Amino acid sequence: MLFIDLDDFKTVNDSFGHDCGDEVVVAAAHRLQSCARAGDTVARLGGDEFALLVDDVTTAHVTAVADRVLDALSEPPVEFSGHTTTLGASIGIAVAGQGETSETLLRNADLAMYEAKVGGRSRYVVYEPVMHTKVVNRFRLEAALQTAVADGAISLAYQPIVDLRTGAVVGLEALARWSDPALGDVPPSQFIPVAEATGLIHELGHWAIEQACRELTEWRSAQGTKAYVSVNVSPLQLESDQFASSVAHILLNHGLEPSALVLDVTEGMLLVERSRESLRELRAHGVRVAIDNFGTGYSSLSYLRQLPVDLVKINQKFLHPLEDDSADPAFLRAIIRLAETLHLDSICEGIETPGQLCDLRVARCGFGQGDFLARPGPLVDVPATIEVVSSSR
Ligand code: C2E
Ligand code: MG
Repeated sequence: MLFIDLDDFKTVNDSFGHDCGDEVVVAAAHRLQSCARAGDTVARLGGDEFALLVDDVTTAHVTAVADRVLDALSEPPVEFSGHTTTLGASIGIAVAGQGETSETLLRNADLAMYEAKVGGRSRYVVYEPVMHTKVVNRFRLEAALQTAVADGAISLAYQPIVDLRTGAVVGLEALARWSDPALGDVPPSQFIPVAEATGLIHELGHWAIEQACRELTEWRSAQGTKAYVSVNVSPLQLESDQFASSVAHILLNHGLEPSALVLDVTEGMLLVERSRESLRELRAHGVRVAIDNFGTGYSSLSYLRQLPVDLVKINQKFLHPLEDDSADPAFLRAIIRLAETLHLDSICEGIETPGQLCDLRVARCGFGQGDFLARPGPLVDVPATIEVVSSSR
């Protein structure tokens, strides 16, 4: 079974209208028919999706058919109503096993087609059972995350952000933690993308800011300091019209001054105009914005120029690794000076060794965080100061 989905078909519909789209679908159907032998079945499943059922062949044979389909679609370009377009397709191939139903065969071919799309289109991918496992796991994770968010099973760990001259804890980064009874500890790098894809990020993100502000208030009164809390936000949250006002509301509820909150926006995230507007509104209110993972994308400088920001969080990769000379301290120093020139505070992330701490102090980096200073953990365990001065190489 070949599951064939035309690439970029939507562009034809959007640019030239549905009548032209129909012409292209008809042309694609003719080309697919030309690849089929007597006894094969060509079907249109809907939209720009087709299936080609090839009987009595080996996998090697069927991949040759897929190559033929790709060639037949792409050459020559299709002409329609005075325009031309070159057709491409993503093809998923599933080979029927003993006792396989038509339903699972089609589903498997569809899953393989999805891999072909993700893999860069204009190609075929043969179904493997791991593709199904991946989808089932993802489904389980989605369901469990939904429950976890609703039941309050997500918590926050805090990592201190330290003044590298004095050791004072000036801020706390809130990091989401999820421990599921069945799935175990699921890291944010796994569940945040799922939360984004399902829309759960709005609820989760709102909860994180609320919880961080609540815990900060308690910590401040226990420690008698004025540290801020830094919360990571997803670009999807910023796109919401209500985001800025809901943040202002949370701050007011907890009696916190707006500068008590820093929002971490990861460099390289695509920010639409609405997101920038949210950031501008929040900054006008007094909330601060940090560029997270600074230096990891290819857009560091344009990001700095276009985004309203207050802090730069320098990525760990600019630090001198333990037994490796590959990190160039000149870059680290250049970024720190750049931030200074723009009147932005720099925080270096991921400090793991006394040597790195020493390098940063020499380079006059204002602030730092990392496992060497303190690992993320419950806020009650975070002290008001951390030893930095005696560390030297
Ligand atoms: P991030 O904002 O860059 O957070 C820093 C990450 O580095 C954290 O990983 C932290 O545990 C880890 N880290 C801290 N010190 C060290 C160190 O010395 N060495 C090394 N190698 N790593 C260190 P974590 O907690 O797994 O979070 C990963 C990412 O997930 C975060 O990266 C952030 O982008 C995202 N994230 C976490 N919580 C939230 C949340 O509530 N909302 C959103 N939208 N994203 C979150
Ligand atoms: Mg962060």
